[in-house]
Amino acid sequence: MLIDLHNHTCHFSPDAKSTIDDFITGAVNKGLAVAAITEHYEYKNPDPNDNIQTFDLDLYTKTFKEWKKKCPSSLKLLMGVEFGYQTHTASDIDEIASTAPFDIVILSNHLFRGVDVFFSKEVYKLPVKARHAEYVSKLVEMAENCNNFDVLGHFDYVNKRNPDLSVNMLYDDCPKEFDRLFETLISKEKALEINTATPARRDSMPDAKIIKRYMKMGGKLITVSSDSHIMENIGALIPETCEYLKSLGVKELCYFEGRKVKTFGL
Ligand SMILES: [Zn+2]
Ligand SMILES: [Zn+2]
Repeated sequence: MLIDLHNHTCHFSPDAKSTIDDFITGAVNKGLAVAAITEHYEYKNPDPNDNIQTFDLDLYTKTFKEWKKKCPSSLKLLMGVEFGYQTHTASDIDEIASTAPFDIVILSNHLFRGVDVFFSKEVYKLPVKARHAEYVSKLVEMAENCNNFDVLGHFDYVNKRNPDLSVNMLYDDCPKEFDRLFETLISKEKALEINTATPARRDSMPDAKIIKRYMKMGGKLITVSSDSHIMENIGALIPETCEYLKSLGVKELCYFEGRKVKTFGL
């Protein structure tokens, strides 16, 4: 069964180009059985370069009901959101996550020292290990401070935007930080997202050691997602990533429906 649990549309995410019709067509063409739309919700986004902010959740809820009617029965369409984290918005995010009938809530960190990694000029001047350690530390803080979420989004986002395509994010870059992150996710029963947008850009799968360590520590909840913003990327690299995860010993993936976890065999 193919799933893709992290996608954006132009209707609520200003950086996306796919319409809902593109999305449904793309998902059906890729043979997806379960697909989530997880629009950006950046509460109090401090970056003036960034036009991604918040949107009307009541309108989203109403619109989603119409979107579901357009879906063929072969595709389960999930209503999701991707919250952008900041230290001082943790309790707001926890509260807002309960105000709409989401199926799935992704919690992500797009910022590095207060600026979206996408726009930061400073982040890639730092040595690789220091940069990765600082970013993963922030993910630890985020996972510790927030409770009302299901999935930790793109742990490798800081590297997705790295202009040096030869750099992969490695477990050995910051093992202590990764261990703390996994410990927190596992104790809170939150899922780890394997986001295929980073591998798609740099032609390398996520570090095997990261995934093996997560499983060794007892991590069982894994999702796969394309993080598509355009039609061409819907479901991209999902079958390949599933094969890769299988080769590392992953036996199950999961998705969320009505905020309840559902696992299935890979
Ligand atoms: Zn994101
Ligand atoms: Zn996203």
